[in-house]
Amino acid sequence: MSDEQSHLFYQSRQPRPFLDHGEGVYLYDEQGKRYIDGSSGAMVSNIGHSNPRVLAKMKAQMDRATFGYRLHFRTRPSEDLAAKVASLMPEGLDRVFFVSGGSEAVETAMKLARQYAVTQGQGSRWKVISRLPSYHGATMGSLGVTGSPLFTGPFAPMFEEMPKIAAPTAYLDRDSLSDEERGLKYAEMLREKIEAEGPDTVLAFLMEPVGGASTGALVAPDSYYTRVAEICAEYGILLIYDEVMTGAGRTGKFLAAEHWGITPDIVAMSKGFGAGYAPLGAVVARGDMVEALLDAGGFLHGFTYAGNPLACAAGLAVLEEMEAHDIIGNAARMGDVLKSRLTGLMDRYPFIGDVRGKGLLLAFELVSDRDTMKVLPKEWNANVELVELAYERGLIIYSRRTRGGYEGDHFLVCPPLIITEPQIGEIMEILTDALDAFAANHDL
Ligand code: PLP
Repeated sequence: MSDEQSHLFYQSRQPRPFLDHGEGVYLYDEQGKRYIDGSSGAMVSNIGHSNPRVLAKMKAQMDRATFGYRLHFRTRPSEDLAAKVASLMPEGLDRVFFVSGGSEAVETAMKLARQYAVTQGQGSRWKVISRLPSYHGATMGSLGVTGSPLFTGPFAPMFEEMPKIAAPTAYLDRDSLSDEERGLKYAEMLREKIEAEGPDTVLAFLMEPVGGASTGALVAPDSYYTRVAEICAEYGILLIYDEVMTGAGRTGKFLAAEHWGITPDIVAMSKGFGAGYAPLGAVVARGDMVEALLDAGGFLHGFTYAGNPLACAAGLAVLEEMEAHDIIGNAARMGDVLKSRLTGLMDRYPFIGDVRGKGLLLAFELVSDRDTMKVLPKEWNANVELVELAYERGLIIYSRRTRGGYEGDHFLVCPPLIITEPQIGEIMEILTDALDAFAANHDL
């Protein structure tokens, strides 16, 4: 088959070269061109590509067994990984359910919450309030909580649309509130929504602690996190953190929840957890919730591949690698360096309206006017153009054109957590070159 033909199909016809191999923060195509992976794929490859120690541990497991069905055997990798995950969680979150990806993790978290409520005699509770914009996955259940018309559009009649409140896009507000007041203002929207829906119909509140692709690394004011947790406790509503992108060290802590000292009732993880070595995700819940389910006959849920020993051996090797080399500490340190370098670009490019994020979950947003944060003309397709200008120059970044109720162009710069300062220098050099070309194309 020629390189132009393909029997595969994904989201679009966008042609890409064939990947040959990866090494650390770099990827190489079959022509030998080198790319610096400035987005860790889709914020996945946290420990970089082709780590030999992880591959060796996976190979050792492959030589023993690549699959053992959980109804027939317990496996050491899944038990050991669950114990390791529990040891890294806030106190009380100690029961783990493995899945193969982020959408499965979100589905599982919601079903766990619902079945638990039923065991507690709270069968009237089923609504999961989430935010707009947000992204929680592509399956029917996760689409119900995803606040992004781009993904839900044609499927809307096929799933239950869950209630939404505005994500705290506080950086767009032009009012005289302090940061703290603004955080409380957005958190109070949750209370209003609970009251409007009827408190005894609301099961859970689901949020990305730091936004991912849907909002471009949006971080709320500190007061938001505590007040949201207080409101959930007050109404007996379960708090679910979708840490699919933020978990496993991306923001400079194992869980983003740690930045605010929050212990959610349920956490969903994936992406950096398997770090691209295996399709892997996890749902971590409070022990008493899981015990209640097991007492009531068990969790009515499962996936064939959940907890398979090869994926779990990979996940365990990834966590061991992170610990052995203080990779999360590096994410925090290099996150500060990269954020200040990105912020520095604002002096040179007036069309960068905002730089935000935590650890190595960072983004910048392009605007036509920094004071009003007016977006760039839609027909420019800036989100595609800048990504392509960078790609041609050997830098991979990630973008989406969504923001609140309208559209804007933001770009995630989220390299593997093993990145070094000189490698950040390489990213900045290529990005500056790409931004210069973008400015020249539009006379900016
Ligand atoms: N939740 C969040 C916060 C995500 O960023 C994603 C993926 O981007 C998902 C859920 C869905 O994960 P997956 O694509 O692995 O199904």
